[in-house]
Amino acid sequence: MSMDEIKRLREEIRIVTEEIIRAISKRRILAEKLGEAKKALGISPIDLDAEAELRAQIAKIASENGLDPEYAQKILSLLIQDAISIQQPQTKPRITHMDIFRRAKQLEMSGEKIYHLEVGEPDFGAPRQVAETLSWAASHGYAAYGEAKGRPELRKAIRDLLRENIGVDVSEDQIVITPGGRFAVYLAAASTLRPGDQAVVIDPSWPLYKQVVEMMHARSLVIHTRLEDKWRPKHEALDKYLRQKPRTIFINYPNNPTGTTISSTEMSELVEEISRTGAYLVSDEVYMDYCFTDFTSALETGYERTIVINSFSKSWGMTGYRIGYIVASKELADRAARIVSQLITCVPEFIQIAAVRAIEDREIPRSYGETMKRRLEIVSRELDKIGVSYVKPSGGMYVFPKIGEDGFDSAEFALNLLEKKRVAVAPGTAFGDYPEYIRISVGLGEEDLRKGLQILVENLQRTGRQEG
Ligand code: PMP
Repeated sequence: MSMDEIKRLREEIRIVTEEIIRAISKRRILAEKLGEAKKALGISPIDLDAEAELRAQIAKIASENGLDPEYAQKILSLLIQDAISIQQPQTKPRITHMDIFRRAKQLEMSGEKIYHLEVGEPDFGAPRQVAETLSWAASHGYAAYGEAKGRPELRKAIRDLLRENIGVDVSEDQIVITPGGRFAVYLAAASTLRPGDQAVVIDPSWPLYKQVVEMMHARSLVIHTRLEDKWRPKHEALDKYLRQKPRTIFINYPNNPTGTTISSTEMSELVEEISRTGAYLVSDEVYMDYCFTDFTSALETGYERTIVINSFSKSWGMTGYRIGYIVASKELADRAARIVSQLITCVPEFIQIAAVRAIEDREIPRSYGETMKRRLEIVSRELDKIGVSYVKPSGGMYVFPKIGEDGFDSAEFALNLLEKKRVAVAPGTAFGDYPEYIRISVGLGEEDLRKGLQILVENLQRTGRQEG
């Protein structure tokens, strides 16, 4: 091949690329017009049936032109995502949950007493013997580079714990130690999602799931559940979303923020449906020990593509230790471990040794779970007195009541409550499209909980529920 030939091919590629860019630009203008038309008719910007039709058509065209259909779908997903973002201009809410958290911190720094009903952190702290083991380990040489998956004795301890708690046998090479549950969620997304992929998230949800999907340049298919349905996704909704062939599905039971749990029958049915699509199931089980009914782990279903997220933050109150783990197939665990190795080498060894010590004490998670249950009952009793709607938590450390009718802005309510009464709550908008809801956390001591709750309930009677 001559240099002239290379030049000619480059020129052709340039022309084709310019055509693609012009076509994308045209597509965006059309998407904007479509968005306006839908808005005028009050139609949602997302139409999964229309997407499915387009996907089928593109798969056909790809095959006809000798293009890998999967590759074509990836490009199409990016185009669809782009069109949706054009049709759904992000109107920034006036007040976000982050404003409330920041303001609570500010007030506290200026010496004000704040009742923290907003934090997702248990007040327990790490057990004393765990802290002692940590300093012992750091000064006895457990401070070197280690295996990316984590120290074998910790993975063995977790394996034994899982066998004891949920009756499931996993091998040590299916476990990866992570710096906290948060990073474990990131790893699950990074190990399963590619740009243009889709992932199902069930709202209301802990905000991180949607954030990690976005980080992967993938798209969240959000199932909006309702209090009236006890926060369960409707069968038809799940079915419709699964037909979109998502790569990954995130679930979280006991749930943050609703406190709902899942029975073993429901889990089996859910996994049965998911398994038909071949999607990965990411089951965030960090509230496993705050479960007031029989706990069910997704691992019990034996579905090969399950990734379980867990953490020492809730079960042993070790939030600041930043240690958690994932359990997955060996292949996926290897993939996740490669990311750990590239980004952080490994979780500090002395922290892992402290975690081994924590696991030796099986009583602590049980007693922490009982404390949360007692505190949640206090909240339920208070809410019942004023007749607020909510689902009574069967796990977790939160209650998610509805405190206003249509048009209510819980972020504004939360900011007012903080400014005037020094009580912080998380507005429902932090967890999806739930402006009529707030999340009450019981991560604080009982005395403060009672006082904060008293003030909240008085204000709900006056502000939220009467003025709507
Ligand atoms: N999953 C859920 C549902 C959570 O609420 C949290 C903490 N708020 C985590 C995971 C992560 O906790 P950590 O990173 O402290 O392990």
